[in-house]
Amino acid sequence: MSNSFYSEILSLIGVKLLTREEAIHAYGADTGASERMPSGAIVIKEADAVKEVIALANHYKVPLWPISGGRNFGYGTSLPVDSQSFIVDLSHLKRVYIDTNSATALIEPGVTQADLHAAIKKSGMNLLVPTTGVGPNGNILGNALDGGYGLTPIADHFNAICELEGYWGNGTEFRHSYQDLGCPEMAKRWSAGTGHSWAGLLRQGSLGIVTKARVQLARAPEATRILVFEWKSHDAFIESQPQLNMLTEDIPGIGGIIMMNDRRILSTQVDTPLVSPLRGEARAEFLQQLATERKISPWTGLGTLYGSRASVAGAVRDIRRRLKHCRVWSFSPEQIRSLQKLQDYLPSWGFSALRRHFGALVNTLGTVEGYPIVAFLKIAYALDPTAKKLDVNSHPAKDGAGILWYAPLVPFTAGEVNRYAEVMSECLLAHGFDPLLAVTSRSSRTLSGTIPLLFNRQDPADVVRAKTCYSALVKVGLEHGWPPYRLGTDYMDLIACPADSPSAQVQRLLKKALDENNIIASGRYEHAKPVEQLTSTETITPIEEVVPSEIKPGITVDAEHSLSFDYAKLLNAAFIEQSPARIKGNSHVVNAFDKQKASTAANTHSTINTVPEKETL
Ligand SMILES: Cc1cc2nc3c(=O)[nH]c(=O)nc-3n(C[C@H](O)[C@H](O)[C@H](O)COP(=O)(O)OP(=O)(O)OC[C@H]3O[C@@H](n4cnc5c(N)ncnc54)[C@H](O)[C@@H]3O)c2cc1C
Repeated sequence: MSNSFYSEILSLIGVKLLTREEAIHAYGADTGASERMPSGAIVIKEADAVKEVIALANHYKVPLWPISGGRNFGYGTSLPVDSQSFIVDLSHLKRVYIDTNSATALIEPGVTQADLHAAIKKSGMNLLVPTTGVGPNGNILGNALDGGYGLTPIADHFNAICELEGYWGNGTEFRHSYQDLGCPEMAKRWSAGTGHSWAGLLRQGSLGIVTKARVQLARAPEATRILVFEWKSHDAFIESQPQLNMLTEDIPGIGGIIMMNDRRILSTQVDTPLVSPLRGEARAEFLQQLATERKISPWTGLGTLYGSRASVAGAVRDIRRRLKHCRVWSFSPEQIRSLQKLQDYLPSWGFSALRRHFGALVNTLGTVEGYPIVAFLKIAYALDPTAKKLDVNSHPAKDGAGILWYAPLVPFTAGEVNRYAEVMSECLLAHGFDPLLAVTSRSSRTLSGTIPLLFNRQDPADVVRAKTCYSALVKVGLEHGWPPYRLGTDYMDLIACPADSPSAQVQRLLKKALDENNIIASGRYEHAKPVEQLTSTETITPIEEVVPSEIKPGITVDAEHSLSFDYAKLLNAAFIEQSPARIKGNSHVVNAFDKQKASTAANTHSTINTVPEKETL
């Protein structure tokens, strides 16, 4: 890499270049305490600059890590897999246009749930924002490109995208083929196009940068219902699985159902009961007692129903008839709003059933009606009794919260759900974590598990415990046939297929064809691809030699202190280190990855050995 890359980027119109230190300050905070600090950042202020940035990155072979919102909490936040990367921040590109005819939104990468909600309101249409637990500042495009999901009718957010525009790594432009055929109206309505479809290459891909997308928005239906399911025992919950599974297939308009155990419900409560210093048996007893006192059932489910008044009413009756061993509550949004008003007047005794679901109901209201709310972020602050009240600016990574999301896919069958609950609880407890379990129906065949690992990011030992547990969960999950649908940037190599596998070969061919210089999202969901170690001849020229900086010398990061290398510290320190020590610091980050990779390579191999033999036809 030469100095010319920096000076040429600086000469571009519509971009702002950040030094490594400035980039660490702006993007270095990660809820998972990742150490993968970027080499710098390029903030895009004008969409046209993206093409030029890609051209320069190709010329100088500089890896880029595009982000749209950078709020990938639990999965690496804004940080790249490869520490040599420059973050390309697209969050300032915020144009949004609602097409009322096709009920779609044409968005730039920076558009958030709140931006989309405001644009829909302005358009006068009654359309639903594809909401997630991140709330109003959650990004629409970034979430979809990482395969995120929610509970609104189009639950899988990538599936809601019908058009993508941008550039492959080699600079070639992409857009929907119907645009090239002169049939733009159908591009809004038929994402697959005719002939081969490449859009899927951008889902969790590392081949291109998306600069524009069109999102299909669900129309608000005539009627919606919020369903609450309560199981009085774990066995009853397991027995319900086949019936639930059939419901998701038979009942029109049923959305995702999220089913949470009592510990998971406790983790969202305002008095932060998980803060308890108790450990082991005593902790388990305490949480159990709390769940009993608060009348939290062993498993509680939350679901949504959308449709015409008649079909929704019929569906509620049908669900109640078919679900055995399960109490089913059904509320319309109007009922919840009335209850909200009534709540203050309810006597302090009685109405326990209503009270125990009240918070969840009010929170779910936003999701069902497609407007974003902050309440679901609460779980990230479950270990912090001093956390300020959540608002749209709440940023768990910058607020110092420690959370990693483990999110495996599990077959939607009674036996597998039971095994999943057992295996995961055992692994979590062995590492000193509460089993905060939830599974969400993604289809009639598949459930998506989510397990938050909550830890103290300011405590190096706790960070190690969380990272070790995360790797163990991925390993154990794979051994049982449950691959994570999504992974944090520190853990991508745990699911890499062997270098000679068909998957790895196809990925290499695609990379060669579309991003030959490997400049896009190096290491992201990459099969058998370790991040290359810096060799002595490949040192990075410090950016400050080209870009004058006011920043003064400060602390030094060395291997010994690697675990305490955290954003909070960096904010207090003016500077990390001067060159050439900085080069050492950067390679330290790479080395940390390599060490981890070496230890996990063994795990990956043992995993591969345990995969059962292929089914034969
Ligand atoms: C309490 C809590 C609740 C959460 N709830 C949910 C939930 O309900 N559902 C859910 O899905 N997630 C959830 N998350 C996880 C995560 O925070 C969200 O998925 C969030 O939307 C991802 O961040 P982002 O949208 O800013 O995406 P970004 O960080 O911008 O993007 C994610 C990744 O996509 C790629 N990418 C982004 N933009 C581009 C582009 N223009 N071109 C090419 N590649 C790109 C990059 O690799 C990037 O790292 C939750 C997290 C927490 C802490």
